[in-house]
Amino acid sequence: MDTRYIFVTGGVVSSLGKGIISASLACLLKARGFRVTIQKFDPYINIDPGTLNPYEHGECYVTDDGHEADLDLGHYERFTNIRTSRANNVTTGRIYQSVIDKERHGDYLGKTVQIVPHITDEIKRNVRALGSTGRFDFVITEIGGTVGDIESLPFLEAVRQLRWEMGQNALCVHLTYVPYIAAAKELKTKPTQHSVKQLQELGIQADVLVLRTEKHIEQDMRSKIARFCNVAPDAVVQSVDVDSIYRVPMKMHEQHLDEIVMRKMGVPVEGEPHMAPWTAFLSKLDSAEETINIGLVGKYVELQDAYKSINESLFHAATYADHKVKVRYIHSEKLRESNADGLLGDMDGIIIAPGFGQRGIDGKFVALKWCREHDVPTFGICLGMQCMVIEYARDVLGLEDANSTEMDPTTRHNVIDLMEEQKSITNMGGTMRLGAYECRLRPDSLAAKAYGTTEINERHRHRFEFNSAFRDRLEAAGMQCVGTNPATGLVEVVEVPALRWYVGTQYHPEYSSTVLSPSPIFTSFMKAAIDYKHEKENKK
Ligand code: GLN
Repeated sequence: MDTRYIFVTGGVVSSLGKGIISASLACLLKARGFRVTIQKFDPYINIDPGTLNPYEHGECYVTDDGHEADLDLGHYERFTNIRTSRANNVTTGRIYQSVIDKERHGDYLGKTVQIVPHITDEIKRNVRALGSTGRFDFVITEIGGTVGDIESLPFLEAVRQLRWEMGQNALCVHLTYVPYIAAAKELKTKPTQHSVKQLQELGIQADVLVLRTEKHIEQDMRSKIARFCNVAPDAVVQSVDVDSIYRVPMKMHEQHLDEIVMRKMGVPVEGEPHMAPWTAFLSKLDSAEETINIGLVGKYVELQDAYKSINESLFHAATYADHKVKVRYIHSEKLRESNADGLLGDMDGIIIAPGFGQRGIDGKFVALKWCREHDVPTFGICLGMQCMVIEYARDVLGLEDANSTEMDPTTRHNVIDLMEEQKSITNMGGTMRLGAYECRLRPDSLAAKAYGTTEINERHRHRFEFNSAFRDRLEAAGMQCVGTNPATGLVEVVEVPALRWYVGTQYHPEYSSTVLSPSPIFTSFMKAAIDYKHEKENKK
């Protein structure tokens, strides 16, 4: 069949969850047997979010092909089990860079280069790029930002043109907000009407409206919105707040969002989507009674999006293990030996978070020493793994000044060091060791048992590496290097087998955990945390 293009725009306010709606729709279409992909257009000038501070943009997600991407791509993968790539996330910066490169190359043959048509053509080319591979029945394109932003105008103009060119093969889903005014005890539709009008002023008629709301919107109010907005009454769908984002696909299906979209695009609707594995996950979520407490030691505790993928991975693992998970964020800058018992004492498992730079690093060492001494299941990810190595070298090997050269460039005991090829790099953007790399695990390792194989592939995002010059000494002292990259010999996984579950991964397994395919190493960590919890309870 022809590739169909679905555009998802947002109005009224940001943070309505366009990513979740896009991912839910993709999830349903995929469960109907279609080949689906989702891409995100971000209207900012950074080439990618890789150079953005987590305060600006939450977590930076990484694709298999090493693209530093918007965190919505994480939702796309978690909801659909499809792998995304560089082509799935395009910013204004990338569009301009490519247009300017073409201008310098002389491709525009002396023409004045303008937003319309040159920038909009480049956007359109990028929208079509995934579809033109012939690999997809549906390409869902989420336009970042809110209708009315100056930044998103060229993207919306491109959507307008594409809808005109593609006819029935293109469709616009517009997500808006219906606020509840507590004092008046009323839901209000006016912001939605304005937002749809604003979109109309740009030449785009929404085909489907998804109304975000805290309270149920009655049919007559939805019909009123339909009437005011030139949308069919059955194409006004509501998205009421739910306790888990993973309930959204079924909520959308109950209101026939998948069917509405297919019908409008002339795709025959047959049968039902195969959502059984998904609903099995949801029933585990419903029936979980016991809670597992996981401590996450990091410096961005006040930002819920900074550790998005880790949170979701913990949630997947706990749900499959029939538990609710409660993540306590422990501020690494506030952690001292004197308060470690209080902050870490109730935890069933501890994660030492990824990160960059010196700030908060000492708290991570305090946590790691405490975890080793109390033999609590401990999982170090990226910087967390590097801290495991440093703390072990300091405390067990007695190398007091052991460090990463990221924190102390002059240390004699550079147990974590810059790779040779990184030393000449001066540009910050897109130059880390990024994307999926092979890792070979020692067959007797905890990691190999967790994955059920010795050959794995996981994604990276770091500059510094385990320094193999210290490998023998660390191994002799009990820290085993159980995972290495076959091509380079770089150490990717360390473990301390004398402890119950003490594992560090240089890679980020959280990027590849999805609802239907949870991360094996998170699953193993969760199981260890649950066993530990039961052991503590039995001792009482
Ligand atoms: N700062 C460390 C490095 O660059 C770790 C990065 C991370 O945790 N993602 O190697």
